[in-house]
Amino acid sequence: MAEQPRDGNCIFCRIAAGEIPCHRVYEDGAVLAFLDVGPLSPGHTLIIPRGHWRTLDEVPAEVAGACMAIAPRLCKAVMAATGATAWNILQNNGKAAHQAVDHVHFHIIPKAGTQGLGIDWPAGKLDAAEGKRLAGVIAGKM
Ligand code: AMP
Repeated sequence: MAEQPRDGNCIFCRIAAGEIPCHRVYEDGAVLAFLDVGPLSPGHTLIIPRGHWRTLDEVPAEVAGACMAIAPRLCKAVMAATGATAWNILQNNGKAAHQAVDHVHFHIIPKAGTQGLGIDWPAGKLDAAEGKRLAGVIAGKM
C-alpha cells in the first residue's frame, strides 16, 4: 500500500487517527467509513482513505481502488440498514465543486423520499466534431 501522508490540521486525518470521534461503520488498513455529521438523509456515509490527499487526481490508484473496493458492500449495508433502495455516490473536488473538507472522500447518500442529494443537471448537447476533438485531447493527456 502507498505511503499514507497526514495533515495534523485535517479533521478527517484526525478522525482516522482516532483523535476526533466519529460514528464508524467500517475500517481497514487503508480506508475508513463513518456517518456524515450533516446528513442529507439517514445513513449518509463517508468513505475516506486513511492518508491525506486533497483531491481524487492526487490519490494513488491503489488507494482509490481500496476506497471503491469496499463501496459495494458499504452501499448494500447502508441501504439494508435504512430501507432505501436508491442512492448517490458523490465525490467533490475543489471549493468551486462544493468540497468543504480537503481530504478526499466519497459520499454515500441514500435517497429517502424528498431527502437525499438534490441534483441540478442542466444538460447540453455534445456536438459530434467537438466531441471528437475533446476526446482526443483528453486521451492525449492520459
Ligand atoms: P464535502 O462538501 O464533499 O467536502 O463534504 C464534507 C462533508 O463532511 C460534509 O457533508 C460534512 O457534513 C462532513 N463532515 C465534516 N466534519 C465532519 C465530522 N467531524 N464527522 C463527520 N462528517 C463530517
